[in-house]
Amino acid sequence: KDFRNTVKPNWCPGCGDFSVQAAIQRAAANLEIVPHELAVVSGIGCSGRLSGYINSYGLHGIHGRALPIAQGLKMANRDLNVIATGGDGDGFAIGMGHTIHSIRRNIDITYVVMDNQIYGLTKGQTSPRSAAGFVTKSTPGGAIEPSLKPLEVALSSGATFVAQSFSTDLKELTAIIEEGMKHKGFSFINVFSPCVTYNKVNTYDWFKENLTKLSSIEGYDNTNRAEAMKTVMEHDGLVTGIIYQNNEEESYQDKVEGYSKEPLNKADIMMKEEQLQELMNDFM
Ligand code: SF4
Repeated sequence: KDFRNTVKPNWCPGCGDFSVQAAIQRAAANLEIVPHELAVVSGIGCSGRLSGYINSYGLHGIHGRALPIAQGLKMANRDLNVIATGGDGDGFAIGMGHTIHSIRRNIDITYVVMDNQIYGLTKGQTSPRSAAGFVTKSTPGGAIEPSLKPLEVALSSGATFVAQSFSTDLKELTAIIEEGMKHKGFSFINVFSPCVTYNKVNTYDWFKENLTKLSSIEGYDNTNRAEAMKTVMEHDGLVTGIIYQNNEEESYQDKVEGYSKEPLNKADIMMKEEQLQELMNDFM
């Protein structure tokens, strides 16, 4: 049950992604699964390296495409615990189409976004999560567009599990990832994971000053989508905790008639000779 491997991460010292890696490893260990029951798929960016740092199946995919790969894995082997990971540039720019459609499809996988409001791997350009006015080499006069709102997008796309955390809060982050992995459907988890090298605005101190824990809001009901949306909007998206969870909705797999209860490599999917002949006849 040890999800650590011997690969030394090459993130900058202090990068928020270290905690996300540790939280995924701890959550998997807490769930008492073993490494061959977990697959971590990542996109491109500093965060994309994460799949190589965990002792599990891992695939460092292509930019913005971690989700289609992760969904394919889950469809082929329902016994696997599948986690897709990436950054805000990966998931909310080039991969945004996949993010929205994966959310509404509700396949039983977990998506962890390391949101640092900047492109770190390419040395600090404005990302879809950078605030208006954000100055980088790509926007020397300040970003003109407002930042994308991932929580509102997820909630309005029909998400059945929406959460947000902060990489310094390892206890909360681990618990959230654990709940997301247990959730029967798509779990969307946005994590504020500061880029200490290029983002000098959204720093650890900035988040500490601006984040509100949902557990501090008296009577907050995370089963009410409208209340979740209202609360997120009132706090400009700067909340942490499980924002919304719906356990009533069936996952995509449960809705697919005939979906194999067995991994495909164990399922009886070989065509019988007469079935093959029938298929051939259709093409004649
Ligand atoms: Fe982390 Fe930023 Fe360094 Fe990338 S550039 S490893 S996001 S601190």
